[in-house]
Amino acid sequence: MEYQKILNTIQEELSYRNTTGKVASYIPELAKVDPKKFGMHLYCRDSGHYSIGDSKEKFSIQSISKVFTLTMAMQLLGESLWERVDVEPSGDPFNSLTQLEYEQGIPRNPFINAGALVIADILVSNLKNPKTDLLEFVRKITGNQEIDYDLTVATSEKSTGYRNYGLVNYMKALGNIKNDVEPILDFYFHQCSLAMSCEELANAFMLYANGGILLENGEKILSTKRVKRINALMQTCGFYDEAGEFSFEVGLPGKSGVGGGIVAIHPSKYSVAVWSPILNPKGNSELGMAALEKLTTLTGFSIF
Ligand code: GLN
Repeated sequence: MEYQKILNTIQEELSYRNTTGKVASYIPELAKVDPKKFGMHLYCRDSGHYSIGDSKEKFSIQSISKVFTLTMAMQLLGESLWERVDVEPSGDPFNSLTQLEYEQGIPRNPFINAGALVIADILVSNLKNPKTDLLEFVRKITGNQEIDYDLTVATSEKSTGYRNYGLVNYMKALGNIKNDVEPILDFYFHQCSLAMSCEELANAFMLYANGGILLENGEKILSTKRVKRINALMQTCGFYDEAGEFSFEVGLPGKSGVGGGIVAIHPSKYSVAVWSPILNPKGNSELGMAALEKLTTLTGFSIF
């Protein structure tokens, strides 16, 4: 398979395409990003690395970080985790408050904000230094010790993060948050501020494409059952109220972030990350989705 040629075709075809969306601006720092940025990195288990555009430039991974924190919480808590967060697609926007009320403070899944905030609460309860431990985990699975938080982005989100404050307070009132609100949000804003490139994200997500084993050294990090579950959640809940559309167009488990990144995996074949900051109305990268649709169509490798 001529993967580099396929990526070049994707870049060429997308360069003619008009976008209709906007860069995220509710986090002031994200509004400063150049909307024309575009990068993509494909990491194939059998044949290595392919990339186009700004694939080595770091951006704010935002909600993609929810996969890392979920992984850590699963490792710490095992089955009891699912008493506090459900595993159903939400069909609602990522920052919705309404669903929480009629579901008594149990978030639909760990990838909407409410669910990720419960996961943050769990990590704050169970780890002495959750921010350090998260960095350590991400650095380990990426094989890159330089990955770090972008403190300007974290501070920027804190200054306007009213909805996330609302979600945590509401769940605390309903008994599903154990710690004080501040340390949970401090951790959450930091996890979302992680700065990574497409290349680094594809490297990190090879873990999920490769059955929980680090491809670089063969170390088994996650049980087969947990990888299956995380990938299933990415498939059904990774794109909020656009999870169906992403399955329909792309056909891979994946996760998006409002920084314009999307990462997706083909179990046993490849991991791929794409970045283009212009978002569609559901908060997913417009060109990112288009690029991945072309990738699975041109290679014939979706999971369906
Ligand atoms: N930090 C963002 C928020 O909480 C993450 C949202 C996202 O990437 N979808 O709103």
